[in-house]
Amino acid sequence: MKKYNFNPGPSVLPEITLKKTAEAVLNLNGSGLSIMEISHRSKDFEAILKEAVSLMKELLSIPGGYSVLFLQGGASLQFSMVPYNFLNKKAAYLDSGSWASKAIKEAKLFGEVNVVASSKESNYNHIPKNYTIPADADYFHITTNNTIYGTEIKKDIDSPVPLIADASSDILSRPMDVSKYALIYGGAQKNLGPAGVTFVILKNSMLEKVTRPLPSMLNYKIHVENESLYNTPPCIGIYACLQTLKWLKDLGGLQAIHKINLEKAKILYDEIERNKCFKSTVANAEDRSIMNVTFVMNEEYKELELKFQEFASSRGLVGIKGHRSVGGFRASIYNAMTVEGVKALVAAMQDFEKQI
Ligand SMILES: *Cc1c(COP(=O)(O)O)cnc(C)c1O
Repeated sequence: MKKYNFNPGPSVLPEITLKKTAEAVLNLNGSGLSIMEISHRSKDFEAILKEAVSLMKELLSIPGGYSVLFLQGGASLQFSMVPYNFLNKKAAYLDSGSWASKAIKEAKLFGEVNVVASSKESNYNHIPKNYTIPADADYFHITTNNTIYGTEIKKDIDSPVPLIADASSDILSRPMDVSKYALIYGGAQKNLGPAGVTFVILKNSMLEKVTRPLPSMLNYKIHVENESLYNTPPCIGIYACLQTLKWLKDLGGLQAIHKINLEKAKILYDEIERNKCFKSTVANAEDRSIMNVTFVMNEEYKELELKFQEFASSRGLVGIKGHRSVGGFRASIYNAMTVEGVKALVAAMQDFEKQI
C-alpha cells in the first residue's frame, strides 16, 4: 500500500532526495567512496557545501551581507546560541507556542527577557497581535510557524530592532523577505533534510554586537569565518539538504512551491470546515498554518477519535495523531507532501463521515 507521511518531523522528503542520498551512501558521484567516508575538506564535499549555500541564497533571494551556515544541535541549541551571542541587556520574545516558550526559557539565562505577548492562556490557538516591540531590545524573537499548534505568521513583520526567527517548520515554504530579518534558523528535519543539520541565515553585521567571550562552537563568528567547516559538519545531512534544494529549484522555486502549498492547505481546511465530524483548532483563518494543519473531532463525535486514527492508518495515512498538548489530529503537509497525499486524507475524512 502506498504510504502518505504526515509526520511533524522528521517528516516526508522528496523521493529524489531519498534516492540521490541512498546512491551517494554507496558511491558518491562515481568516486567509489561513500558520502559517509569522504573528508569534509575534500574537493567533493566542498563543492556540495558550496552549492547548498548558494541554492539557499538563490531560492530565498538572500541579499548580500548575509551568511548561510549548516550547523548541528538543532533549533534547540539555537535557543541558547542566539541569546548567548546577542542578548547583551534585554531581548523581546513573542510567546506563540511551546517552541517559543522553550526559546524564552533559555534566553532568561543570559539577561532580561520581555515577553511582548502570549497566547498561552488560550492554549496557543492564535498568533498574539497588537503588541509593542521595545525599541531598546537587543532583538525581537518570533517563531514563524508553530508546528504543534498549527498557527503561522505568514507575513514578514517589521521590527524596530533586529528580527530573529525560528523558521524550523516553514522555511522554504514561501518566498520570504530575508532583508527584514537579522537571523533565521531552524532544524532541517521539517522541510529540508534529515535531522542533524541546523540551518542559520545570519546578517553579518550582527557579529559586531557580540560582547561576551564565547565558546568557539557556540560563536557564530567562528562558524561564519570557517564557512561551516570549523569542525566536521553533518556531511550526509547537508548532501540530502542539497538534493531537496535542487528539487525545489527544478520545481520553479519558492513562488511555485508556495502556490502548491496554498492549494494543499485550502483543500484540507475546506474539508475540515465542510465535514460534520471535524473542526479546526485555529478559529482565525488568517493564523492557520499552511504546513501543520491541526484539527479535532467535533464535540458530538469525540469518542470516534481513535476510530478515525485507525481508519486513516488502515489507508496508509501515517502520522496524523495530534500533539498531546492539542489532541485530535495534525496533518503536516510540508513541501514534499503531494496534492495527491492531501486528497487521499480528504477522501478518508469523507468516507469516514459516510460510514458513521
Ligand atoms: C521541531 C521544532 C523545533 C525543535 O527542533 P530540534 O531540531 O529538534 O531542536 C524548534 N522549533 C520549531 C518551530 C520546531 O518545529
